Amino acid sequence: MQLSENSSNSFNFQQALEEEIKGFDPKNPPKQELIDSCVHCGFCLSTCPSYRVIGKEMDSPRGRIYLMDAINKGQAALDETTTQHFDSCLGCLACVSTCPAGVKYDSLIAATRPQVERNQPRNFADKIIRTIIFNLFPYPERLKIFLPLLWVYQKLGIQKIIRATGLLQYISPRLAAMDSILPEITLKSFKQNYPDVIPAQGKKRYRVGVVLGCVQRLFFSPVNEATVRVLTANGCEVVIPKSQGCCAALPAHQGQEKQAQDLAKQMINSFANTDVDYIIINAAGCGHTLKEYGHILADDTEYKEKGEQFSNQVRDIQEFLAEIGLTTPLSPVTDDDLPLVYQDACHLLHGQKISLQPRQLLKQIPGIILKEPIDAALCCGSAGVYNMLQPEVADELGKQKVNNLMNTGAKLIASANPGCSLQIKKHLNLQGKDIKLMHPMELLDYSIRGIKINL
Ligand code: SF4
Ligand code: SF4
Repeated sequence: MQLSENSSNSFNFQQALEEEIKGFDPKNPPKQELIDSCVHCGFCLSTCPSYRVIGKEMDSPRGRIYLMDAINKGQAALDETTTQHFDSCLGCLACVSTCPAGVKYDSLIAATRPQVERNQPRNFADKIIRTIIFNLFPYPERLKIFLPLLWVYQKLGIQKIIRATGLLQYISPRLAAMDSILPEITLKSFKQNYPDVIPAQGKKRYRVGVVLGCVQRLFFSPVNEATVRVLTANGCEVVIPKSQGCCAALPAHQGQEKQAQDLAKQMINSFANTDVDYIIINAAGCGHTLKEYGHILADDTEYKEKGEQFSNQVRDIQEFLAEIGLTTPLSPVTDDDLPLVYQDACHLLHGQKISLQPRQLLKQIPGIILKEPIDAALCCGSAGVYNMLQPEVADELGKQKVNNLMNTGAKLIASANPGCSLQIKKHLNLQGKDIKLMHPMELLDYSIRGIKINL
């Protein structure tokens, strides 16, 4: 297919040619040989969430590859118009799973995002929201300062009033989107005292490090606690270095190269000399980034090899447990059979090719009947901070995901990514659906301890 001026996009090649063309800078632009590997077959379009919602070629993988090609060849500019099509990509990597030609779209978009950040100025509103996100979310210590304020905001009912008035939506839909996924702040969010080393129960099989995450650590501490209990119950001594920070997923997915590299180095330094066999993570998005440190630090002579070594040790918790096998007996978590639907997080399914392991683990819990939703491989719209930056597309995807999950008839949803959990909970609430959502580690923990779930 040739890209014509009539294609359904807001982009005009002729105009770009007539104006001064600002392209990619020389620092790691998208590689031409990767661009050329696309045969333009279009198989990826139907699996691309941004294309499914927006419906325009330029918001599909193939369209974005055309744009990269045109910019690389000086036939199009890297400007506000082209940037909006790169920004609309969720980075879900469904296209990588689908592509019959093996196009490495993940490498292409990873090279494009830092180019956008370096060369295309953001408008004022965009700058403000990005400054808040990148200076706050990857730093649990800074986020913690705001916890008491957020707690008061929720407990005094201010959040409810503000939501009812629609004030935030009026001021900024992105701020409203941020508020809409804010999890409930509990007293557990304030307690963050993990010991450095937690002994294995029974015979020690492995010594493993655990990455706590930043959002996970503050807002999903029960998931981290459950993860540690499941690991120790299955013969793992757990090491939790206090100096660990953010895994760098958030800045890495948004092209904030320097910040991602700094955070990756800090994480590597935290686990240096801990002598662990594996480094375990229970959040899909973080796990994918931790496995990419070799690429993130590819230009750093001191850290490139350390990054690769670190990534080789990283295992998603479900991948790890399926690999080593559970040694503890499991009990039912409900009195009757429990129909349960597992939600595939994109960065597990497409990013790490992990889909069987969580299902195998969950099926070992007596009484669990696993249901499969339609469009299981389609993104829920969370995609890191996408649901805050592109709330309209994210909302449509969130709505579809909840419909598909609920149509399975399941009585519980299992999700292994904090971003997906927040997005799904938001849309369950909007649709008035009262159904519990848990991390697979919480379910395994309940099962190991013989605790029943209050559905
Ligand atoms: S990215 Fe792959 S699936 Fe999509 S158009 Fe190119 S070759 Fe086809
Ligand atoms: S990463 Fe996801 S949103 Fe982006 S082009 Fe691929 S399928 Fe579409």
